[in-house]
Amino acid sequence: MPITYRKWVKGHGLREEPGPILSESILQRIWFEFLVQNPLTTLQGELITLKHPGIWNHRPGPDFLRASFLTPDGRTLSGDVEIHRHSSDWDAHGHGTDPAYQNVVLHVFWQADPSLSDLTPSPIRQIALAHQLAAPLTELISLFRASPTEIHSGEKPGRCHTALLSLQPEELQKVLEEAGSHRLQQRRILSTARVSAHGFDQAIWLALAEGLGFSENREAFATLARAVPIQNLLPLSHSSLRASLLYGVAGLLGDPTTNTTPRAQPFLKELWGHWWKIRSSWNEQILPSPLWKMGSTRPNNSPLRRIAALTHLSSAQIWPRLVESIRQGDSHTFLQILKSVSDPFWDHHAGWDGRILPNRCRLIGLERAHALLFQVLAPLTERSGSELHKIISTWPVGGDAGLIRSASIRLFGLPFPPPEIRSHLAREGLLQIYKDFCRSKADACQQCSMPEFLKQR
Ligand code: SF4
Repeated sequence: MPITYRKWVKGHGLREEPGPILSESILQRIWFEFLVQNPLTTLQGELITLKHPGIWNHRPGPDFLRASFLTPDGRTLSGDVEIHRHSSDWDAHGHGTDPAYQNVVLHVFWQADPSLSDLTPSPIRQIALAHQLAAPLTELISLFRASPTEIHSGEKPGRCHTALLSLQPEELQKVLEEAGSHRLQQRRILSTARVSAHGFDQAIWLALAEGLGFSENREAFATLARAVPIQNLLPLSHSSLRASLLYGVAGLLGDPTTNTTPRAQPFLKELWGHWWKIRSSWNEQILPSPLWKMGSTRPNNSPLRRIAALTHLSSAQIWPRLVESIRQGDSHTFLQILKSVSDPFWDHHAGWDGRILPNRCRLIGLERAHALLFQVLAPLTERSGSELHKIISTWPVGGDAGLIRSASIRLFGLPFPPPEIRSHLAREGLLQIYKDFCRSKADACQQCSMPEFLKQR
């Protein structure tokens, strides 16, 4: 019996670094995802309940800004969070004397150094994550090892492309589908952790927002979905109320006084009319504008249009049907709902400046809707694994065309996967191999075990 992809990748996948210590980037991702037990126990034995993990700061300064948590006596405290691998890194990096770190309220690290007891007690609460994760550590390392923003463009064929292409088509499809199943299993583990941490509806809301964010704005959309949970939107019956809250907290509500295009002004004025009244209660959650990558997306995929899609889907008339379709694994209803997402303004526009799209354009195109099957429905459905595999075999392929292209060039030396392996699961498997092996290091081919795996197959 040949070794399976999942077994092989667990034993041979390139690691970000050797040894049991996690990298800071993975710890930051775990914190961002909020995949920790809640309440958390501090080193001093205090139980604190995390309300918001903060906004991920990719600039100099603390790793997360404006986090908030509840103390055991019911007070809400807010401030910044700094994340390290070792507790002693706080002193080693000189944060104690750096004014940029004066608002830090939580110091989070993987585990405390044995010498920590010698250090002066700090007013900053200290948290060791080693025994406080919401999902198995090995799965989280594998999931978060390379983020979509680390994708290299300008791919060239890699070391194993001839070996892959020389496999019989059935065997190639089998290898890719095994990798696709491994990807699915990872996503289901992440989704299970999210459901247990945030509930079923919020786990769907997060997955949907991430999927609509594409790789460029995935993090910004996830931050927005955390800042405005689905339960805050469902009671808002009018779409302009939901839109004002989502655009307002996203920090993407255009300014009607400087917007010279009359076409957008009535809509913008209506949204501002709502936003002014609620803004003060959401001030803490407003996303900083550098979080958004507006220039690198095609006009059709503008984050403004994606937020309009979220506005539509968070209606109390639509949301329960969407949730039920996911629960039941009903891909037909799921796709029907996504295809029907529309908005009178955003169906025709790409920005607040009134830019008109050449044609009426769906807020969620077919390709993206098909990709969301794997990103949202598959990880969260209550169907069993074997039922799900049967259903997936009937799904159309779709999504991440740019990434598929890079992966195909690297692994096959071709801009598209060979025609005989275009199943939904095989395509996802291609992305998974690319992530597990090719994107792990700049010179990944030199140390890669994939050629050996292919020989054994
Ligand atoms: S990194 Fe590994 S899997 Fe990727 S092309 Fe090179 S040899 Fe193949």
